[in-house]
Amino acid sequence: MTKRAAVSAKAAAPCVKLSTRGVARLHARHPWVYRSDIVGADDIPPGSVVRVLDERGKFLGTALYSSSSQIAIRMISHGSVPDLPALVGERIRAAIAYRKDLVANTDAYRIVFSEADFLPGLIVDRYNDVLTVQVLTQAMDATFVREAILQTLREELQPAGIVERVEARIRELEQLPPLASGLLWGEKSSTEVTMNGVRFQHDGLEGQKTGAFLDQRENYAAAAQYGHGEALDAFCYQGGFALHLAAKCSSVTGVDSSRPALEMAEKNAALNAKPNGRELEWIEANAFDLLRDYAAANRRYDTIVLDPPAFAKSKRDLEKALGGYKELNLRAMKMLRPGGILVTCSCSFHVGAADFLRVVAAAAQDAHKSLRVAENRGAARDHPILLNVPETSYLQCLILIVSD
Ligand code: SAH
Repeated sequence: MTKRAAVSAKAAAPCVKLSTRGVARLHARHPWVYRSDIVGADDIPPGSVVRVLDERGKFLGTALYSSSSQIAIRMISHGSVPDLPALVGERIRAAIAYRKDLVANTDAYRIVFSEADFLPGLIVDRYNDVLTVQVLTQAMDATFVREAILQTLREELQPAGIVERVEARIRELEQLPPLASGLLWGEKSSTEVTMNGVRFQHDGLEGQKTGAFLDQRENYAAAAQYGHGEALDAFCYQGGFALHLAAKCSSVTGVDSSRPALEMAEKNAALNAKPNGRELEWIEANAFDLLRDYAAANRRYDTIVLDPPAFAKSKRDLEKALGGYKELNLRAMKMLRPGGILVTCSCSFHVGAADFLRVVAAAAQDAHKSLRVAENRGAARDHPILLNVPETSYLQCLILIVSD
C-alpha cells in the first residue's frame, strides 16, 4: 500500500469530485468530506494525495484520501501539493513554532494536534527528551511521509527517543496492517517530565493515551490555585490533579479503577517533596460506587476533582452520558463543605460546552446548592481549537465554588 501511495504522490495526483454538499463543507472550512459526498473518483490507491474538484471540475485544493474510512478525504491544502513530505515537514516546524511562546512551565506538551495543526491524522507529543507519534490515517502511514515526520522531529527537537503509540482499532478501521507500539528511533522510551513544577515519570510504551493527559496540564495549575483542605481526586489516573493539589491541601485522596495507573501515581508522589503533615493516599475503586458510598456515609471534602473517561462515545449515547455527569456531579456537590471547590470535567466531544454547563447546573439544583463559576476552561493551549471544526474542541473543565 505505502509504495503505491508513494508513487502516486510523484505522478499526477488522482482527482476526486465532490457533491454540492461536499463543496459546502469545504467552504465552511471543515477539512473532512464523507464518502457519500464524493460523486466521482479515479481509481485511487489508499492513502493517496488527491486533487479535489467540484462537480464542474473546478479545482478546490488538495486532500489525503482514505479508501476505508467514512471520512474519505481530509483537506491538507487549499492549493496544490507537489511534495507531501516537504509540506508535512513544513507544517511540523510551524506547529513547533506556534507553541514556542504559548507553552510555559512544562517540558511535556502536544506538538502536533492533527487537524488543528493542519496535519490530519498525525499526533505528536513531547515528554521532555522522548517524543510520541500517533499515525491515524493511511496517508500519514506511507513510508515516505513517516520518514519526513521522523527526520523533521529529529532535526528540530533532537530527542533521545521517538516512540510510536499504535491504536490497533484505528489501524483496523483504516485497513492498515497491524503494528506494535515501539521505538521508532533512538534508545530511550521512558523519561521524567515536569509540569508546573510537579515531577512525573513517563513511560512512552505504557499507560493510557500517549502516557499522560496533557490536555489537562493548565487545568492542574488552575485547580491548585483554588484547592484547599481535604481533597478527593476521582478518576485520578497517575495523579495529575492530585499531585498538584498536594501542595495546597491538607490531605489528598486519589481514586482510580486502574491499578497500573495508581502504581505510577505512587511513584510520581515519591518524586515530589511531600509538604510536612500532608497526607496522600491512593484507592483502587470504582469511583461511581465510592462516591455513592461516601455520600451516603456523610463524608465531607473541601476540594473534589471529577475527570471521568468520555461517557458519550457517540451521539446516540448523549442522553445517557448527560445522566451520568449529572449523577456524578450531584454526589460530589453534596459532599462539599461551604466554600468548597468542585473541578468538574468532560472529555466527551458529543457533550458540548452548553450541554455540560446545563447538566452541572441541574445537579446544583438537585443538590440545593448555589455554585459560582470561578473558571470555565478547556484544553491546554497546545491543543488548539480550530474554528469551524468542532471535533477539535472536546474538553470542558469548570472550576466551581460552592456556597449553601
Ligand atoms: N485526571 C486524570 C485523567 C483521568 S482519565 C489526569 O489528568 O491524568 C480517566 C480515568 O478514569 C482513567 O485513569 C481510568 O482508569 C479511570 N476510570 C475509568 N472508569 C473508572 C471508574 N469506573 N472508576 C474509577 N476510575 C475509572
